Amino acid sequence: MHIVVCTKHTPDSEAKMSVSGSGDVSWGTSPLIINPWDEYAVEEALQLRDKHGGTVTALSMGPNEALEALKHAVAMGCDEAVRVWDDTCAGSDTLATSYVLAQAIRKMGDVDLILFGKSAIDAQTWQVGPAVARRLGIPALMYVIKIAELDPAGRTITVERLLEEGRQVVTAPLPAVVGTTKGINEPRYTSFMGIRKAAKMDYPTSGLADIDAEADKAGAAGSGVRWPEISMPPAREGEAEIIAGETVEESARLLVEKLLAEKVI
Ligand SMILES: Cc1cc2nc3c(=O)[nH]c(=O)nc-3n(C[C@H](O)[C@H](O)[C@H](O)COP(=O)(O)OP(=O)(O)OC[C@H]3O[C@@H](n4cnc5c(N)ncnc54)[C@H](O)[C@@H]3O)c2cc1C
Repeated sequence: MHIVVCTKHTPDSEAKMSVSGSGDVSWGTSPLIINPWDEYAVEEALQLRDKHGGTVTALSMGPNEALEALKHAVAMGCDEAVRVWDDTCAGSDTLATSYVLAQAIRKMGDVDLILFGKSAIDAQTWQVGPAVARRLGIPALMYVIKIAELDPAGRTITVERLLEEGRQVVTAPLPAVVGTTKGINEPRYTSFMGIRKAAKMDYPTSGLADIDAEADKAGAAGSGVRWPEISMPPAREGEAEIIAGETVEESARLLVEKLLAEKVI
């Protein structure tokens, strides 16, 4: 089995975002981390590899900072890491991102399963996984809460998809794209050995030519969406009052009186 896990770096969820007058988005000095939803995808890939054998490759399209996501994936236990980037990739929307990722996967040749997290916590479009599947012409199984059966010999996968009304069991031929969701597993912590391995590993970068990608389908040139303007939401107005009685009971009574006076209850 060759399993590819796509992962991207995101700002820490505690990061404070700001937008400059010229429209540049910044997360300040906040550390970049692996997109938290991708840890479920990595964990699932590792469990499947340990059960069925084979290798897990972490794949990211991104500048140097993307190494943070790849290093974390390797520290968790991925065997290989591939980064794709050249300057032409800058300004990619999901159309261009999915093109580059699909080309990189095509170039690998022997991929059985491609795993994604449910979304990225920053741009959060949920589009990249299904778009990669569409570009490769293979099934997209999204919101997967359980991989019920993987049959490498029979070339099928059966999953349970999380729907609002319940669960849907779906079987598809391999190769397939699977979008994992929270609850599919409990992602492992990185081990000391894993962190050492990740620190020592070589992370070569493939450019667009290396994956036979056309420059005008990547980056800003290959994107259908532009951000002509981006701004912060207006600051919320409001006052906070701390109700501090002598006892918990008194605080509760004072709170209820306030809520009644304001006609909230
Ligand atoms: C500086 C900057 C400029 C941008 N400019 C534009 C713009 O001009 N127009 C526009 O539309 N968008 C722009 N974007 C957003 C960009 O389109 C998305 O970040 C990107 O396409 C991924 O989409 P997403 O984050 O919504 O991922 P989702 O679709 O929510 O993520 C689903 C899964 O795909 C994985 N994934 C997503 N991206 C990658 C990747 N690069 N490599 C590997 N796995 C990945 C995620 O980790 C996750 O597992 C910009 C982003 C940045 C940081």
